Amino acid sequence: MAQIKIDHLYKQYSPNSPYAVNDLSLDIADSEFLVLLGPSGCGKTTTLRCIAGLETQTDGDIFIGDRLVNGLPAGDRDIAFVFQFYALYPHMNAFDNIAFPLRAQKIGKDEIKQRVEQVARLLRIEHLLPRKPSRLPSGEQQRIALGRAIIRRPHVFLMDEPLTNLDATLRIDMRAELKHLQADLKTTMIYVTHDQTEAMSMAHRIAIMNHGVLQQVDEPLTVYDHPATLFVAGFIGSPPMNFVNCRLDNGGISDASGAFKLPAAHIPHLNERVNSAASDEFVFGVRAENVTVETAVSTTPIRGEIVVREPMGDEMIYTVQVGDNLIRATTEPTFQLNPGELVGLTFDADRIHLFDAKTEKALVV
Ligand code: ATP
Repeated sequence: MAQIKIDHLYKQYSPNSPYAVNDLSLDIADSEFLVLLGPSGCGKTTTLRCIAGLETQTDGDIFIGDRLVNGLPAGDRDIAFVFQFYALYPHMNAFDNIAFPLRAQKIGKDEIKQRVEQVARLLRIEHLLPRKPSRLPSGEQQRIALGRAIIRRPHVFLMDEPLTNLDATLRIDMRAELKHLQADLKTTMIYVTHDQTEAMSMAHRIAIMNHGVLQQVDEPLTVYDHPATLFVAGFIGSPPMNFVNCRLDNGGISDASGAFKLPAAHIPHLNERVNSAASDEFVFGVRAENVTVETAVSTTPIRGEIVVREPMGDEMIYTVQVGDNLIRATTEPTFQLNPGELVGLTFDADRIHLFDAKTEKALVV
């Protein structure tokens, strides 16, 4: 098992291109399941490939265990890499595919048999061992690829969107299986995905990147409840967090048109939060589940008109137009209103987020 330390990592593919990874520092604990999350092109794969030794960083250090691995070939880093595409050998059956890394290490026949069977039991693919992978469904191929990765008992697993090619149901099953497998094996895992649900459900901690820059690294619920930046707040959660551009106005906040006006009494620690800002422009943020739709319009500070109603089965999502802003709110599925109706909105005060419009950092006390 091994901890990993990434220290001021930079990667630039050519002298004039932007940094694919820009000053990334990250400590991953032994046995941790860390998910690298972010949109396409944010630098996740590049980071993983630098850790694997498949790319050379422009600057910075990478330690696996206590070893500085800069310049060490991929094969000497004691890691196993699982990609989105399984890259199994089509002419070999599942047994031989899984056994392949052990044969390369010249391990004896009996031990190979015992270890392949053990891994197959763990992944519940014993019945597939004689079969050629190309004839099997993608979920089973992916399990064989996992078998080939874990059989060497590496110190670290690196996985790059390994579930992307699976259908939705299988992905949910495999998510649970991978999480279970990692807990069993206690192998340090770095797992790349752009799928926030995958990240939230599997990770011990999530590291969120944007444009090569690490935005936040925290446990899933901390990232959800206390996003450190505007980017994280918008990227995590579905429906996405509501945002309104605001300025200070008579001690409270208001948008440019004045349609969205919230008195200071509704925003805990407004002054302290705003005092730490770099500019006088803010972004107000609140999740749909922390917005309450009221039909008694006269008692609420914010009013608007319902423009969209989306029945989701377990909840209803209303989109309410407030001046130029669209605010989403979730309610009980039985709370029935129609587009065109006027409603009031209130917010769970402890769940109101404020961001500095300039630095895009959360304003907290
Ligand atoms: P995706 O999920 O789409 O793979 P990602 O977050 O993993 O995205 P990277 O693949 O690491 O992002 O890409 C980061 C940036 O580096 C992108 O701008 C990409 O175009 C660039 N890049 C990646 N690989 C290369 C390469 N081999 N040569 C030049 N530029 C590259």
